[in-house]
Amino acid sequence: MIRDPEHEKMPRRELEQLQLERLKVKVREVYEKVPYYRQAFKEKGVTPDHVQTLADLVKLPFTSKLDFRDNYPFGLMAVPHEQVVRIHSSSGTTGKPIIAPYTQGDIDTWAEIMARTLAAGGTTKYDVMQNAYGYGLFTGGLGFHYGAERLGCTVIPTSGGNTKRQILLLQDLETTVITCTPSYALILCETALDMGVDLRETKLRLGFMGAEPWSEQMRKDVEERMGISAINIYGLTEIIGPGVSVECTHKCGMHIAEDHFLVEIINPKSGEQIPYGEEGELVITTLTKEAQPVLRFRTRDIVSLNPEPCECGRTLARMSRVTGRSDDMLIVRGVNVFPSQIESVLLDVEGVEPHYLIVVDRQHQFKSDELEVWIEVSEAVFSDEIQKMEDLEKRLRAEMDSVLGISARIKLVEPRTIARTEGKAKRVVDRSEL
Ligand code: ADP
Ligand code: ZN
Repeated sequence: MIRDPEHEKMPRRELEQLQLERLKVKVREVYEKVPYYRQAFKEKGVTPDHVQTLADLVKLPFTSKLDFRDNYPFGLMAVPHEQVVRIHSSSGTTGKPIIAPYTQGDIDTWAEIMARTLAAGGTTKYDVMQNAYGYGLFTGGLGFHYGAERLGCTVIPTSGGNTKRQILLLQDLETTVITCTPSYALILCETALDMGVDLRETKLRLGFMGAEPWSEQMRKDVEERMGISAINIYGLTEIIGPGVSVECTHKCGMHIAEDHFLVEIINPKSGEQIPYGEEGELVITTLTKEAQPVLRFRTRDIVSLNPEPCECGRTLARMSRVTGRSDDMLIVRGVNVFPSQIESVLLDVEGVEPHYLIVVDRQHQFKSDELEVWIEVSEAVFSDEIQKMEDLEKRLRAEMDSVLGISARIKLVEPRTIARTEGKAKRVVDRSEL
């Protein structure tokens, strides 16, 4: 169903006009209210007056994850604190998390975007939606929750975890729509199997899955095992949370909410715009965000865009699945992990060398305990007694746990066994390459 035909089916020329109007307002706003942006404009030698067409976007500075960290916690905010009604934050990275403040206007806009997102995938007010995205600082839980209420379906706010209870509720409350990460969908399938429950025989018919990369194969697998149609949904904390883009029932790319988010594709190396259709890094400018508008955010997600109208009637451009990242971030069980974080732990622990390998299993990339780290020990420790090695392993595991926010399997390896490379080291390898 198309909940908001005025915007979802807007002729592209009109849409671009709307985007330009909104862009001009936001550019002026951040220039006037956010000292960080004023300075960044100055460094580029531009003022809000330089933005007269959408093509002028390239004159504006980029915003990166690092800029969020440097301006932690409220340096990018464009409204006074008393207008903020909620704060979310991104999942478990070290040091400073990404802070996302919302005004009441932002919450309303987000709820509406999410209502239309759920409708685009085929949800109606007659549905019972079990929301197994995490509630709390993570944007997933509350983002879906407010959208579902706005749409008028029934929400069961189970949040993630407690899987057996999820399966019970799902049967007893006749859940028709499940929302969770693809990796959690697999856990639900496995648990149901253990409990002797055939999910295909329940009322479940639809799923909204995202927040992490997943493949077409994985979709088929989940669809078959759950007896549902699984819809891909994309979003990120810096921009709003879930709802940036979603598939319609034709499942041929995720429609971007372009009336709220202006997108570009760039070459991640040169930073230059590249044409729609070619793969590159997705860059997003928020057009309606109030508390923390963001200009040209470099998502690091590699995608391609398709502006052709869709069979569903929407004119909103579609983005492909995320095929990779232009940085080295991994997403393990929904938590962002950077190799540099692992490195920081190693540098702090005596007895190990900063030579390590992160071993991922791309075939089973979405099963629960993915992260395995091979770490080289120093000669001294290696020739020592077993007990010392065991203590070291324990200590590393605990450190990783607290720094990464998820547990890693640690494998200590002999000195000089991890291949050295000149130039850019390869830290992440697939098990099949070993
Ligand atoms: P979260 O709290 O959901 O992890 P983040 O803002 O930390 O939110 O992570 C956002 C990132 O998650 C995106 O930049 C992208 O890399 C990834 N992501 C979100 N949705 C999808 C999706 N449907 N497919 C692939 N990757 C996704
Ligand atoms: Zn469509």
